[in-house]
Amino acid sequence: MAPSKNETVTIRITDISQNGEGIGKTEGYTLFVKDAVPGDLAEVLVTKVGKTYGYGRLMHVAEASPHRAACRCPIAKACGGCQIQQIDYEYQLKLKEKKVINDLERIGGFTVLQISEAEDGTRTYKEAEESMDTAIPVLPVIGMEHPWRYRNKAQYPVGTDKMGNPIAGFYAGRTHSIIPCTDCLLGTEENRDILEKILDWMKKHHIRAYDETSGEGLIRHVLVRKGFATGEIIVCLIINGNRLPAQEALIQELTAIPGMKGITISKNTEKTNVIMKGPVRTIWGQDYIEDTIDGVRFRISPASFYQVNPMQTEKLYRTALEYAGLTGTEDVIDLYCGIGTISLFLARHAKHVTGVEIVPQAIEDARKNAALNGLTNVDFHVGKAEEVVPRLYREEGLHADVVVVDPPRKGCDEKLLQTMIQMTPDRIVYVSCDPATMSRDLKMLAASGYQIKKVQPVDQFCHTVHVESCVLLERVSNRKVDSYVKLNVKMADYYRIKDSAETENVEE
Ligand code: SAH
Repeated sequence: MAPSKNETVTIRITDISQNGEGIGKTEGYTLFVKDAVPGDLAEVLVTKVGKTYGYGRLMHVAEASPHRAACRCPIAKACGGCQIQQIDYEYQLKLKEKKVINDLERIGGFTVLQISEAEDGTRTYKEAEESMDTAIPVLPVIGMEHPWRYRNKAQYPVGTDKMGNPIAGFYAGRTHSIIPCTDCLLGTEENRDILEKILDWMKKHHIRAYDETSGEGLIRHVLVRKGFATGEIIVCLIINGNRLPAQEALIQELTAIPGMKGITISKNTEKTNVIMKGPVRTIWGQDYIEDTIDGVRFRISPASFYQVNPMQTEKLYRTALEYAGLTGTEDVIDLYCGIGTISLFLARHAKHVTGVEIVPQAIEDARKNAALNGLTNVDFHVGKAEEVVPRLYREEGLHADVVVVDPPRKGCDEKLLQTMIQMTPDRIVYVSCDPATMSRDLKMLAASGYQIKKVQPVDQFCHTVHVESCVLLERVSNRKVDSYVKLNVKMADYYRIKDSAETENVEE
């Protein structure tokens, strides 16, 4: 029976939701409770009652879950960034593994291979057998040793406090009020110096922060990007105007920060939630940074996608490289290639790599990056993967021994998957930031002659609910494919779930 609004109930939290809220039941009725941890006995004030489920506010933890951790960040509860900082890191990883397994079972319709666990806790995994068995192994999530200060990119909104002072920080979860915080524990230590110098400069020169309600004031956002391997930093101020007053004073302050390579501004005078609208103008230095991952050098422009957690990205790309099984003779296609990171990682071990990406600026970077690394066995195409690949296949007989895909959250377009299947690569490496759309796409590939050998989740986004995965698929023999062709008829059904998926990248 549903409780009434404003009633206080005591419930045991048994699970977590997609958004990281604790889930528990009172008399069979499900409640979602922010900040509650699986295992907690929680006193909850019911705030919203729906037909089948409701929401509650955590008032008191009567019995703390063994998985509960003290939040390191003083604003963790109010800020929308970390959804699960209150859960200890080891258990966060278990929950992420469980999410991948659940989606593979529920959306993909797969059976996940039983993992044997020895008495000392060591677990044994085996690869899928060379049969059309659909049971697939999910390996333990690759986590971080020190899951803090991992983000190489930060975007801070700027506003004004009640005393009229400029502040920078984060939006309180689902609102637009700014909680002051210049030192997010997921970001780099330099962020604090940069922000404090900007805020001091604003105070000293009476430069006002943008006010969303009136549309007045100048400084809207501060964006910072850092190359972890090179130490290079660029700063971009998003401004409600054309120019910065006292620009030289700001430049003087910011260039004192070690690693500063460029200071840029970008005009945005519209009343919008979109942070960056216009082009980026350099007021000092350059408008890009360089970084290296495992010896490959990358140039990164402000508009290009670049993985936000470089330490984990290296582990992810190494997994993708291992799964690609390259010997130096293979033709490889890297779809959704961004600035060519995976393409160049693979090109060192392949005959040739073709990259496809929708953002023209990213492809410009990718070409420059190939030259920067002296790699000539790569070429890049701008466009939608689902349009470029079928066209190149039809018109130029594009061939691949290995296809790598790394789509945004909405997953791959059905047309693209169909062309990939027609191209019959020996192996497909599917890199995903959303296990739900990944499971949907894997279902189609598995029904069309590809066996899922293993799934490797990687924690790129510690303390958030997100999880990245890398999957190896291998083509089974033609005879076996034939017997599975009939399954293709049902593919249209799988695409019904596609519409609910979000479109943007996890980190944006
Ligand atoms: N593999 C890269 C980028 C992955 S993020 C890396 O590891 O850095 C996904 C990329 O897909 C983004 O660069 C985005 O711009 C691009 N993208 C989104 N939709 C696309 C489409 N339909 N076709 C090609 N690229 C697309």
